[in-house]
Amino acid sequence: MSMAVDLTNAAPQGAKHFDVLIVGAGISGIDAAYHLQKECPGKSFVLLETQETFGGTWNTHKYPGIRSDSDLFTFGYGWKPWEGPLIATADEILNYLDDALDEQNIREHIRYRHQVEDASWSSKAKQWSLRVRDDESGEEVLFTGNFLWMCQGYYRHSEGYTPDFPGMDQFQGRIVHPQTWPEDMDYTDREVVVIGSGATAATLIPAMADDTKHITMLQRSPTYFYALPNRSVVRDMLLKIGVSAEWIHDIVRSDILANQKVITRRSFDDSEALKNELIAGARMHLGLDFDVEKHFTPSYRPWRQRLAVVPDGDLFQGIRSGKASVVTDQIETFTKDGILLKSGDELTTDIIITATGFNMSAMGDVNFSVDGEVVDFADCWGHRSIQFSGVPNMAWVFGYLRASWTLRADLVAGYICRLLNHMDEKGVKVVTPRLRDEDLQMEPLPFITEDNFNAGYIMRKVHLMPRQGDREPWVHSQDYFTEKESIPAADLEDGTLIYQ
Ligand SMILES: Cc1cc2nc3c(=O)[nH]c(=O)nc-3n(C[C@H](O)[C@H](O)[C@H](O)COP(=O)(O)OP(=O)(O)OC[C@H]3O[C@@H](n4cnc5c(N)ncnc54)[C@H](O)[C@@H]3O)c2cc1C
Repeated sequence: MSMAVDLTNAAPQGAKHFDVLIVGAGISGIDAAYHLQKECPGKSFVLLETQETFGGTWNTHKYPGIRSDSDLFTFGYGWKPWEGPLIATADEILNYLDDALDEQNIREHIRYRHQVEDASWSSKAKQWSLRVRDDESGEEVLFTGNFLWMCQGYYRHSEGYTPDFPGMDQFQGRIVHPQTWPEDMDYTDREVVVIGSGATAATLIPAMADDTKHITMLQRSPTYFYALPNRSVVRDMLLKIGVSAEWIHDIVRSDILANQKVITRRSFDDSEALKNELIAGARMHLGLDFDVEKHFTPSYRPWRQRLAVVPDGDLFQGIRSGKASVVTDQIETFTKDGILLKSGDELTTDIIITATGFNMSAMGDVNFSVDGEVVDFADCWGHRSIQFSGVPNMAWVFGYLRASWTLRADLVAGYICRLLNHMDEKGVKVVTPRLRDEDLQMEPLPFITEDNFNAGYIMRKVHLMPRQGDREPWVHSQDYFTEKESIPAADLEDGTLIYQ
């Protein structure tokens, strides 16, 4: 049922109104709700979530072994101690979020099966109107709000990205993308080929290897993997002497961040030595007779794509045991029985898993307009990569790609709450980022530059993302260690925020 409501000019009748509308009930949406309750008490809010439950990524992905590749001391919230292993399964993350919803009384604010389709800002009404599909009732529902907080993640949840490989329709076996893992998937004693060598492949292969006849990781080019014991020595020591969970969380988090700071710095300043150390690590696990040069030596410097963690070296163990193997080659075509490679070799297989990534989606596939004008975010400048030039009363969460996503979600949440309180103190209702005179001639730079981070899912869609500039507050550094100082200290009266 479609509603004939003009969303642009006035406050629509019959809408459900909240001070803040949060889109998404994943780790970022729950974080936004926590900060709002603590830092802006009294503001009403709702979380609108397409899926039937919370968790976002950790609910969407159901493939074997699904786990984080960040440690949970930094991927978990700053405000809720993590008490499990360093790397966690999706179930462990969902349990943690489930507890957070109860502890913070957030559950009652979530509307599940509510898909936000359109978001329209009206300058006259000084509010957003969201047209939402309620999948429970099949109706369209209207929500209005003063501030819109997009916590929709960075990719389309309904389906993953599969390149158009030649001859796919000829293959007589099963082709599966990990993001839409079939419930009836049976791979017992089957030959399996996994295309890709990112974190998903590194998770799937050890989780499936023992049950398959054989599993092959087919990669076009190698990835950096590093094996890490799935425990923290610091945590074990603190636990032994009876330190509280809150203190352990803070100390282990600080310890991990200090190490990450060194690795990030070295990935820029000392990349050759870091590269050699990572490759030596793979060699140590795989043995001297394994061709590490060919299969585990990437051509890019470390951290230009995510470093794939291998907890307790499980991927390497699978390869050493002979249950799993790696092929570095290119796909010529799919065939009836498998994949013909550019080298002329053929991989015969029963199942092909395309661990080929995500479909990036800048704003949860929501259509945006401001006073009737369609918003194209590629034409906007990111304001601290939290807000957008020309778009009033709106923020989004785009986390870190190198460090844990949540570290930035937390910084963004603190910033938005500070901004909302600042607006209340000023007695204004609207805030819109605008370029200052001195910013008008800025050269637009891509949202993420290729030399900073060049993962395929970003590069494929970077043209749809907002621009960045060469000066604050238009820079998108993706650097936690500078932003943890700059975002909390950001000047809200620097002339780039227009209040009305
Ligand atoms: C398999 C996998 C493993 C990952 N591991 C890590 C990791 O270890 N460390 C790390 O830092 N990052 C990791 N990431 C990135 C990960 O997506 C984020 O870290 C984090 O979970 C994102 O949380 P989020 O809440 O911002 O977004 P999401 O988890 O993507 O959740 C967004 C929510 O918004 C909802 N939504 C979207 N559009 C709409 C709409 N129009 N209307 C209503 N609801 C909507 C979605 O249904 C979803 O529930 C991983 C990603 C994947 C896919």
